[in-house]
Amino acid sequence: MLPITRGIYNALSLIARSPQNRYALHTASALQCKAVAAEAEAETAAEDVEQDAAAEQKLDANDRTKVIPVETSMRYLKSAAYKQTYGDDFVWVQYRRNHKGMFAPRKTRKTCIRQGKISTGNPCPICRDEYLVLDHRNTDLIKQFISPQSGQVLSYSKTGLCQKSHFKLLVAVERARDYGLLTYDVPFREYDYSEYYGKTEETAPKKP
Ligand SMILES: [Zn+2]
Repeated sequence: MLPITRGIYNALSLIARSPQNRYALHTASALQCKAVAAEAEAETAAEDVEQDAAAEQKLDANDRTKVIPVETSMRYLKSAAYKQTYGDDFVWVQYRRNHKGMFAPRKTRKTCIRQGKISTGNPCPICRDEYLVLDHRNTDLIKQFISPQSGQVLSYSKTGLCQKSHFKLLVAVERARDYGLLTYDVPFREYDYSEYYGKTEETAPKKP
């Protein structure tokens, strides 16, 4: 046999034998490889799940069908996340609405949420944050919409609430006052009791 052909034969035999040899010699390492591969698969699966969740969240960014309980909202108002978002301001302070022309429209929009989704690019302060739930128990939130001077509910032209949210706010305030969760001043009235009971003894003229 020629040396060149022998060389080729040797090389071919090496290539043919090598996978078997490797498997025979490095069974342990091969098993490890399998384990690593399994782990990698698990990781990719987890990543897939995360990506799916992220995709769902992305899809649900404008979704408002999820009902947030009032207790969650009350905890949120005391949380660090709320502090970071709004600071010491009220929720409606930073809200601005662009309108064409010199004057703002007479009323704010009817609603921000249609068919369970936010239907506008600039939803009102209540609708944009789904964790702000208007309820009579959520007094921390309601108080932000009550004037400290007059004790009345602030106008929607000031707070920018949509008509639907504003109505919900009015209902929540009335209910909170009924339940006694919100204090309010009753206007002071002076009564002339003589109109009810006749003249009292002190004011009545003495008999001679
Ligand atoms: Zn709204």
